[in-house]
Amino acid sequence: MIPRSHSSLQATWQQQLKQSAISASELVERLQLPVEMIGQLEKASSGFPLRVPDNFLQRIQPGNLSDPLLKQVLPDLAELEHFPGFSNDPLDEQHQSTPSGLLHKYPSRVLLVVTGACPVHCRYCFRRHFPYQQQQMGKQGIEKCLKYIEQHPEINEVILSGGDPLSAPDRLLSDISSRLDQIPHLKRLRIHSRFPVMIPDRINDSLLQWIGHSRLKPVMVLHINHANEINQDLTDACERLKRAGVLLLNQTVLLKGVNDSSEQLCQLSETLFNVSVQPYYLHLLDKVAGAGHFEVSQTNAINLMHQLLEKLPGFLVPKLVREVAGVTSKLPIDLNL
Ligand code: SF4
Repeated sequence: MIPRSHSSLQATWQQQLKQSAISASELVERLQLPVEMIGQLEKASSGFPLRVPDNFLQRIQPGNLSDPLLKQVLPDLAELEHFPGFSNDPLDEQHQSTPSGLLHKYPSRVLLVVTGACPVHCRYCFRRHFPYQQQQMGKQGIEKCLKYIEQHPEINEVILSGGDPLSAPDRLLSDISSRLDQIPHLKRLRIHSRFPVMIPDRINDSLLQWIGHSRLKPVMVLHINHANEINQDLTDACERLKRAGVLLLNQTVLLKGVNDSSEQLCQLSETLFNVSVQPYYLHLLDKVAGAGHFEVSQTNAINLMHQLLEKLPGFLVPKLVREVAGVTSKLPIDLNL
């Protein structure tokens, strides 16, 4: 059953964003966690601040430190430990952007970093050390990026990324979208966002207006790691996007203590199917410093994939992939290793 959340119908998405929990004491109070945790949460979040919107908090069982949704957003002292092989920029992205705000990692696709802001701070985020402030695009920055795209006919798809691109106002996104519309070699506009999960009211009329009127085929890649994230508000947001002609895909990060069992992954795929979202990628964790405690080994991931293949129809089995610095596409993991 899909649990119903109780997000305020009056508050706009911007107001909901402002009402997010951003301090250890707020999080402890709202989730009825032990007050003694406040000190350690503050220490653990010193390098990457805490941020969780209310709608997501409502899906977490109060007082349950093992809740798989809580684990994704709860600062942990393990973030301060050093894990061999983990670094601040595991995908070497800080040396790839040309011009500022644009990542041209794949020949036919570019990533446009519209904003560094996110509605949530996922503790395992591979961009937790990314210098977003240097990647913020002003008007001139956008012009430079659009010019670059115009001059590269091999690009057929633009991926709006961030941070979370839907943190940007619709006025800006609509302008970018209509400028991209006019570049003849482009075919698709892809948006990577956790907003439909975190603040489903972000999928409002003004967003649907520019997305639905683009000449480019719109694709939205959601980021959902556990079936408990899929509540009625998210279901309704997916329905609105679908009605606007948006193809909905999902990517999941395989995370220890969150979704590293075949039962949880099967339930996630089944629930995604119920809301018309196609399971797309299951990512091995990017080895970013501060996230080592979330790592699931490749061997265990392959075992899980074999179980998924037995339990699910093929179209509900996501592809197991990892990203490697300097490699121009995601690497599918060979399940026969
Ligand atoms: S929403 Fe995405 S970019 Fe933002 S913190 Fe989470 S994983 Fe990172």
